[in-house]
Parts: sequence; structure tokens; C-alpha cells
Amino acid sequence: MAHDEMRRRLIETAIAMNGSGISQGTSGNLSVRCTEGMLITPSGMDYAGLEPGDIVLVDQKGNPLGHRQPSSEWRIHQDIYTVRADAGAILHAHPTACTALSCLHKPIPAFHYMVAVAGGADIPCAPYATFGSQELSEHVVKSLGGRKACLMANHGLICLAPDLGRAMALAIEIEHLARAYLMALSVGDPVILEPAEMERVLVKFSTYGVQEP
Ligand SMILES: [Zn+2]
Repeated sequence: MAHDEMRRRLIETAIAMNGSGISQGTSGNLSVRCTEGMLITPSGMDYAGLEPGDIVLVDQKGNPLGHRQPSSEWRIHQDIYTVRADAGAILHAHPTACTALSCLHKPIPAFHYMVAVAGGADIPCAPYATFGSQELSEHVVKSLGGRKACLMANHGLICLAPDLGRAMALAIEIEHLARAYLMALSVGDPVILEPAEMERVLVKFSTYGVQEP
């Protein structure tokens, strides 16, 4: 896909991300992998006013090319692309329910079978480190392991997918799960599915895709 088209899709998805309620204002950021490195949303700019030229190309050595500064979390995006061949797009946001759980340093356990949508039996919470730091990037990469998403303590959510549309769908699903988990926690002690059951679900997801049956 040509850069211009990728830049336009990045802007469309960033605007849709705010419209979906998983992000607000200028918090959060989005990127896509390209042959030179990655294209990422700029730091601190309102998505609605973005032009294709505002999207920043960051090369594989971490050099930003263009007239804008890349998102402050560009290191996390770059480090994930380096170790995860399955990442074609990365989405980071501060969705309310995910953020609330992250402030409790709570992973999302297997309270619902759809937790497997993130590729594991739970959705972990990466330890806290200052935003934009290399330390935070290392925590996130380690916590993700082979999964497609994790919470970030006292911060929010990050997820990866083959493309922008699927990254967005995954973020919306995880925010829904986080909201349901918080509601269940508020009235009792949610029953957690057995590891063997989550194994069955993970096998079904890998065989049939991640659509809910
Ligand atoms: Zn953030």
C-alpha cells in the first residue's frame, strides 16, 4: 500500500478511535508498519485536524522523518514491531475501564472466554514506568509475551494486530471485557474459567478465527 493511503487510513482510524469512546482528546496513538519502519501519529495533535503530511515516518533506527514530532510512545511501537512479526498495526489508548483496572495493577483474568481474543488465558498488566520511557517499552514487550494486548499500570491499554481495523476491533472488545469485569467485581467475586477450558477456547480461536461463535 502506498504511504499516502496508509497515512490517510491512520488518520481515519485515529478519528474513529476517539468516536468509539476508547480514546479522547490527544491521548493515545496509532501506528502501521511500512517497509522503511513505521508511520505513527504525531505528538499532541488533535486527530480531527490531521493532514497526511502530519503523520511521522520513523525509520528502523528510530529517526523521525518529517516536520512533526512522533507520538511520545514511539519507542513502544518500534520495539513491538522489532520482536513481533505478526504486528502490522499498533494501537495505544486510555480507555476508561482498562485504565481503571490498570490503576489497580490488575490483569484481566479468564472471567469470560472472550479474554482469549488477546491470545492468552489472561490479559496482563505491565508494571508502571514513566510515559515515553525505554523502561516502559521494555515492561510492555515483556508483559505482552506472545499476546496481542496488555494493560499498562496507571496508564491504559496497548494492542497489536495485522492491520488497523483489527487493532481497533481488538481494543473495543478488550474495553468491553474490562467494563464487564469491573461490573462483576463491584458486586462479587467473578468465577474464573479453568486453564484447560481457556486452552480449548484458544485452540478454537486459532482454528476458526476470533469471531465470536
Ligand atoms: Zn498513553
